[in-house]
Amino acid sequence: MSLHVVVPEESDALPFTVEPSRVQVASKEVPERIHQILAGLQDGGAVVAPLGGDSLSRAERLVAAVHDDALLDYLRHGVPEGRESALDDAFAAPGLDQETPVTRAVWPAALGAAAAAVRAAELTARQRRNSYALVRPPGHHAGPGWHGGYCFLNNAVVAARTLREEGAAKVGILDIDYHLGNGTLACVQNDPTLPFASVHSSDPEDFPYGFERGPGLFGVPSDPGTEGFLALVKDAVSHLRQEDVDALVVSVGYDVLLGDPHGSWTLPPDVFAPVAALLTEYQLPTVFVQEGGYGLPSLRGAARALASEASR
Ligand SMILES: [Zn+2]
Repeated sequence: MSLHVVVPEESDALPFTVEPSRVQVASKEVPERIHQILAGLQDGGAVVAPLGGDSLSRAERLVAAVHDDALLDYLRHGVPEGRESALDDAFAAPGLDQETPVTRAVWPAALGAAAAAVRAAELTARQRRNSYALVRPPGHHAGPGWHGGYCFLNNAVVAARTLREEGAAKVGILDIDYHLGNGTLACVQNDPTLPFASVHSSDPEDFPYGFERGPGLFGVPSDPGTEGFLALVKDAVSHLRQEDVDALVVSVGYDVLLGDPHGSWTLPPDVFAPVAALLTEYQLPTVFVQEGGYGLPSLRGAARALASEASR
């Protein structure tokens, strides 16, 4: 069956982010990413599904369950009058400087992304078909009380909680973005109903610069290559199977690909066909949630490869 794609309304790009050296750099998290990925998903047979009528209010309720009130208040109201953006270290992940400014455009965009994640999860739960929340901003670096790395609200955890409310007893979250989903890890680490697994770069030069070890965390310090990456994804899927999950949320990042400005691996776009085959092998109801991927020339081919396998 076709993969259903849910796309929130287009939102403004962040104007800039701040590097650890405190230099401002133009944000690479831009709307064109979504245009390229959507074209690729449609090339692969995916079909766009409308947003649900009540997904926004459900998202508001769920983000309040995932995140602290102080963070939500800040994202809603944090930009002082007369300023274009705000950057407050009080809302940085533990041990990190805050690198991601908040603009007035952030709250509606982040909530819209969370609502698309809700809708995708509803479609998967109710229609027994895989879905893809093609969202920006992404979410996996947003923890309970902090945001960072282009992320504000944790869309993957919102999708997983939606699947739980729709009847799944245990939902595995599998993160295959180049970067560790430190926010997701923090949001679910005390919740046995939402086991987490991740394949990521653990090079200390890469965000979030510190890497926990433990079951389900498959960090590698250098380029694993295609075969190595597929073996890691297989191990991560096996880990969640051993947890007896009955549904899956996949945090998808195309920043594992050759040429990505935020990654250093050399995988080809076509790797997402065998990746998707591994992810869908057990036919668990699956919601894909967009995280990173910033190399614009690679995005369409990667999304096509993923959709052509995940739509079957
Ligand atoms: Zn990433």
